[in-house]
Amino acid sequence: MTALHAVPVAIESYLAGAFASGGGEGTSLVDPSSGEVIATASSAGLDLRAALAYARGIGRTALGRLSFAERAALLGSVADVLQARRDDWNAIAQRNSGNTPRDAAIDVDGAIGTLKYYAKIGAALGAATLLGDGDAQRLARDPNFVGVHVGVPLAGVAIHINAYNFPAWGLWEKAAVAILAGAPVFAKPATATALLAAEMVRAVIDAQVLPEGALSLLAGSVGDLLDHVELGDVIAFTGSAETGERIRLHPHVRATGVRVNVEADSVNAALLAPATAVASPAFAAFVREVVREMTSKSGQKCTAIRRAIVPNAIKDAVVEAIARSLSDVVVGDPGAEGVSMGPVVSAGQRTAIEAGIEALSRSTRIAFRRSDLAGEAFVSPTLLVAQDDDAIVHEIEVFGPVATVIGYDDAAHAYALAARGGGSLAISVFSDDAAFLADAAVVLGATHGRVLLVDPSVAESHTGHGIVLPSCTHGGPGRAGGGEELGGLRGLWFYHQRVAMQGPAAVVDTIVQRTKPALA
Ligand code: NAP
Repeated sequence: MTALHAVPVAIESYLAGAFASGGGEGTSLVDPSSGEVIATASSAGLDLRAALAYARGIGRTALGRLSFAERAALLGSVADVLQARRDDWNAIAQRNSGNTPRDAAIDVDGAIGTLKYYAKIGAALGAATLLGDGDAQRLARDPNFVGVHVGVPLAGVAIHINAYNFPAWGLWEKAAVAILAGAPVFAKPATATALLAAEMVRAVIDAQVLPEGALSLLAGSVGDLLDHVELGDVIAFTGSAETGERIRLHPHVRATGVRVNVEADSVNAALLAPATAVASPAFAAFVREVVREMTSKSGQKCTAIRRAIVPNAIKDAVVEAIARSLSDVVVGDPGAEGVSMGPVVSAGQRTAIEAGIEALSRSTRIAFRRSDLAGEAFVSPTLLVAQDDDAIVHEIEVFGPVATVIGYDDAAHAYALAARGGGSLAISVFSDDAAFLADAAVVLGATHGRVLLVDPSVAESHTGHGIVLPSCTHGGPGRAGGGEELGGLRGLWFYHQRVAMQGPAAVVDTIVQRTKPALA
């Protein structure tokens, strides 16, 4: 039984061990296919200082008593609770986010899969309670005086502020790492799609699988939350570059020096190698991936391909092939038979996308766009072709089913165009030439967080340009925010202080033993 059986629902926060609603009418959450209000959320009047203090005290203490393996077991239990109600989550994702079943799977199954992955790699850390970082080294003439680097868990709360496009995955990909690290989670989902996150948190709280205080949820706007952060807390933010900058510049956040990780927007690219033939496997794989990235989640993925960088010699053929494929996309209510792309999250988001297309139109021509879509939040997949060297196609992130094809002369030109994104989360390179792929990866790696390399041997098996895997780091330099998440155990470091421990060998060894898994 989901919350959608009685609409509209007043979403409750879970703070200081109790469910509570804020005052006033709150913000409306809608079904983007119909415009119907399905829920409201308000944080007005909630005591966020007390809620943070509760998590910092009760939650941090409870998690701090556990080893990595014990916390990993908690993640496994959370995954089981969520897995048991997968159909409910998919139904909410359809109603509140306009997700098709395939879109919902990326969010919901991605969340559950990430929890399971961290449960597994956390179990392998056994009874350890600290992170190891290399061997102890002699520091002086006296061999008894040694030093080692060790990760010590921070003492505060993990504040997770998430974007609207992944209410499930965004919540749990961050929570999995934080809980494994021993940090109590204080999640603040984006209000527009907060229903899924709130219902999932309620299921986990009701199942009593986490220690008290280990998980809090704030529904509604952020309020004065950031005025109450303390040293030892961390803020992991995902959303627009503008909001990320506001958080970084928040006076109290700056004054306390709490860590801030920003996953922001990005004008990601896909690059088709020079001298690619139109009938080649690389050409087909490239076209398929651009279309998939434009239409998956209706283009509302931070990693989605926004720029398709192709050799000038075959630009027209690429445009024609992408446009042909886009003409098969069926846009509509994701609950309806045959629909392959749902609406964007709201009518407001549709307006923002249309304004973005308008801005890009100054230096592009439209190669594909349907004009027969009406109502609420439906947007046509839109393919643009860059006409001149205007910077705007490298600057504007249109957060919807929109991409621009840009022609290049040679490899150096292609690399320079990719770098004009100012730092991106992901780039994919398609070539039938393995040597080119290796060289491109190194050059493009300087300005990208992730590089996907596709030749015919992985054309059918690769996981996709836009899919974030828990074993690989997620984040990019420059305008992408400069943050880093996931990446297996690498993600744990955000919640730990790396400390240089110097002292007598026996004492240092006692500390080092706490970084080691128990012997089987
Ligand atoms: P957004 O408007 O920046 O909002 C993100 C989050 O910040 C929401 O929870 C929002 O709360 C909160 N927020 C708003 N004002 C705040 C403030 N002054 N202080 C603290 N938090 C504040 O972004 P969005 O529209 O939800 O998401 C779309 C954007 O996110 C796109 O640009 C996309 O590229 C980016 N994104 C990036 C990644 C990544 O991993 N790099 C992933 C997904 C999305 P309310 O909803 O209550 O306003």
